[in-house]
Amino acid sequence: MKRRDFLQATALLGGALTLPTKGYPSLLTGRQPKHVLVIGAGFSGLAAAYKLKKAGIKTTVLEARNRVGGRVFSHQPIKGETQTIELGAEWVGASHERVIELCREFGLELFDNRFETDLIYRGNHAKAGTWQFSPEMEAFWAQKTRYWEKLSAREKQKMDRMDWWRFLSRKGFTDRDIDLRELLDSTDFGESIRKVSSYSALAEYAESSEKNEMDLKIKGGNDLLAKKMAQAIGETSLHLGRKVSRVEQSNGGVTVRCVNGEVFQADQLICTAPTYMVLKIDWQPALPPDLSEALHALQYARIGKFPIVFSERFWGRENFDCITDSVGHYFYHGTKDQAGTKGVLVAYAIGDKAEVLHAQPKPARLQLILDSLRPAFGDLRSLVSGETSYYWGKDEYSYGAYAQYGVGQWFDVMPVLKKRFQAVHFAGEHLAEWQGFMEGAINSGEEVVEKILS
Ligand SMILES: Cc1cc2nc3c(=O)[nH]c(=O)nc-3n(C[C@H](O)[C@H](O)[C@H](O)COP(=O)(O)OP(=O)(O)OC[C@H]3O[C@@H](n4cnc5c(N)ncnc54)[C@H](O)[C@@H]3O)c2cc1C
Repeated sequence: MKRRDFLQATALLGGALTLPTKGYPSLLTGRQPKHVLVIGAGFSGLAAAYKLKKAGIKTTVLEARNRVGGRVFSHQPIKGETQTIELGAEWVGASHERVIELCREFGLELFDNRFETDLIYRGNHAKAGTWQFSPEMEAFWAQKTRYWEKLSAREKQKMDRMDWWRFLSRKGFTDRDIDLRELLDSTDFGESIRKVSSYSALAEYAESSEKNEMDLKIKGGNDLLAKKMAQAIGETSLHLGRKVSRVEQSNGGVTVRCVNGEVFQADQLICTAPTYMVLKIDWQPALPPDLSEALHALQYARIGKFPIVFSERFWGRENFDCITDSVGHYFYHGTKDQAGTKGVLVAYAIGDKAEVLHAQPKPARLQLILDSLRPAFGDLRSLVSGETSYYWGKDEYSYGAYAQYGVGQWFDVMPVLKKRFQAVHFAGEHLAEWQGFMEGAINSGEEVVEKILS
């Protein structure tokens, strides 16, 4: 059973998705809304608005930033050149059907963004293909999907009560195995695997492509898909620079106030803001206590991307990436298969490492990042021709990269966050089977619209 089906089955059994419509019957039963407001022009809000538009329903999107895409944020790091890197979402997974379909619909090209991973561990460098886990871990990893499929519903739910580090430790793998899993898997969850539910970890790995959904990228930048969706929704329906500060609900519908004083009204509202931002909105009436508690309970991963522009691609192969046990953490070639002599290695750090790098003055940060690569390449200072950085832990509109479901939260917190609040529906990556992915954001936005239209 896929995570989506499993979640629905268990949630329905427990009644977690029962919707509280009391007091607002005319808004929600038997007729489609004439006008829907959407908070957020990330992939979730754009996908929702695009689907509503196709269904012929008036839609207005309110976005706080001055750009669309949200946590999809493409960037040209070399002045005067078109090479594009991603400061937010990087990979489109081979299993991410909706992203791939939408790219096809809008004529966007996806290219191979798979890498072969070097390892720098305890001061030693091993090239891709020359390092391995223990035979026991290799065997477990090879049959993880079968292992997952054989688990009963009760066993899967039990896994949510244990963290991924403890789950692996209890299986008796070596310290080196666990160290390497920590380094690799923490890049997926954005925090140490000691903080991640073993249910959400194994579910993701068991259902992912061979490269763990690190497969493809949109040529010219992932934000092109956001721009195409925005174009299709139409300029007049999408308002940038509109930070929502207050939402009032009454029998007449939903009234939304923005920080700039503008007021918008509609029958229903889809809110795709990350949980930190949901809690910043003044809700009238107030959010139900269980929802408020769940919003406070869910943490977000701290990820920093620290791209360095080098005057030459000294790493030799286009599909170079490298996991390290130092503060730079994970490096990948951000300009893979893009023309030019210069190239960008993106240092992708998580948790405390990201926080530390972000806190340093520029020269100290650069030195720490270059030192992470020293065992493989020596002193790289003379090859540096630029740098930039983006730390999502302090992003004004998310205060995190993506949701990080901790122990016991997948089954306890997510169903509460998914509940409708009168005429307000919630969507976003944090509420999706493909949680933490662009695909999940799109799925979640579209699913809410399906509910509205049904
Ligand atoms: C560093 C990093 C790496 C990632 N890597 C990958 C990857 O490789 N592959 C992948 O598939 N995914 C990846 N992701 C995750 C992916 O980016 C997200 O899952 C997805 O983009 C989230 O979309 P969303 O619409 O749910 O949220 P968002 O993109 O955050 O959209 C919500 C929007 O709401 C706006 N907003 C918030 N509050 C208000 C308010 N009060 N009023 C108005 N607007 C408001 C925000 O500005 C934002 O634009 C990564 C994310 C990060 C940060």
